[in-house]
Amino acid sequence: MKPGERWEFAAFWSGEVLWDVSMARYSTLRTGGPAEALVTVTHLAELKKLLAWLEERCIPWRVVGRGSNILVRSKGFAGVIIQLRGEFNHVIRLEESVEMGSDPVFVRAGAGCSVAKLVAWCTNHALGGMEFMAGIPGSVGGAVRMNAGAWGRAMADSLRSIILIDRLGQVMEVDHSGLRPGYRRMELAQASLDDLIVVAATFVLKRGRQREILRKCRENLKKRREKQPANMASAGSFFKNPEGDSAGRLIDAAGLKGLRHGQAMVSPDHANFLVNIGGATPEDILSLAGEVRERVYQKFGIWLEPEVHII
Ligand SMILES: Cc1cc2nc3c(=O)[nH]c(=O)nc-3n(C[C@H](O)[C@H](O)[C@H](O)COP(=O)(O)OP(=O)(O)OC[C@H]3O[C@@H](n4cnc5c(N)ncnc54)[C@H](O)[C@@H]3O)c2cc1C
Repeated sequence: MKPGERWEFAAFWSGEVLWDVSMARYSTLRTGGPAEALVTVTHLAELKKLLAWLEERCIPWRVVGRGSNILVRSKGFAGVIIQLRGEFNHVIRLEESVEMGSDPVFVRAGAGCSVAKLVAWCTNHALGGMEFMAGIPGSVGGAVRMNAGAWGRAMADSLRSIILIDRLGQVMEVDHSGLRPGYRRMELAQASLDDLIVVAATFVLKRGRQREILRKCRENLKKRREKQPANMASAGSFFKNPEGDSAGRLIDAAGLKGLRHGQAMVSPDHANFLVNIGGATPEDILSLAGEVRERVYQKFGIWLEPEVHII
């Protein structure tokens, strides 16, 4: 922000704001440079007002979810990082599906709601379709943006529509036919999601037996625990799987498990997890990722693309 704008912002914004806050606290990698301002928004009307204010002054902004797929560089983010909470944490069954009394059931979740809460809500209401997400950290907004998934399914498979807000504060609902889901990314037929904020998503679910849904969730959690390094700060898989192969397999075959740069390490348990073993800087992670890419390229001629969003 330009000199003076901080004061103006402090006068304008009545909600929560943290200045020059380390994003290490807001990233599962437990490292990250500072955000000039971190703002918690709790209502759609507030979000519209905030975007209008920022746009008018050309102040950069970025929305984050639970920080499970981001790495903020050491120089930090000069602008406003937006977190959605409050009314963005809701999960509701839409009236139209209650009345029908049969499948499918439409459930809407706010973008700030955690995936864990959504999965638990669906299980409690004996609604199947989200079990594949059990154990994936993050928010509904982040999961939509990343088209997160596991076990052969991704968010787009369960989506009926998403509700978005653009830079000018206009709200729109885009149904499934307007989405262009890709591997760990979501776009719209008409535009990129980069300039838009997901505020809510509606899922298409099926009534099921609660015990069976719970069993599937537990099974997925168990498989996850067996495959992934426990109690290590990471962003999950650091690189996308190249077509027809697995990034983890390539990194392992290049002999890189256990490779360290500073306090960042290629996990000995899962080669595609770059872990912070305590006090890693963003540069430690980035230089480790750089060497991994280079060495996989030298050995296999494949450039790995990061899945993690570097901010
Ligand atoms: C241990 C571990 C295991 C994981 N396993 C998996 C897995 O199995 N499958 C998988 O797909 N991922 C996995 N991940 C990655 C991560 O959990 C997902 O990508 C998750 O969906 C990110 O959600 P988030 O809320 O944390 O997003 P963030 O990390 O906060 O943000 C990710 C991106 O989405 C954008 N974004 C966030 N919220 C919004 C919004 N409301 N509107 C628009 N853009 C938004 C951000 O700007 C950023 O570019 C794993 C991560 C960890 C740490």
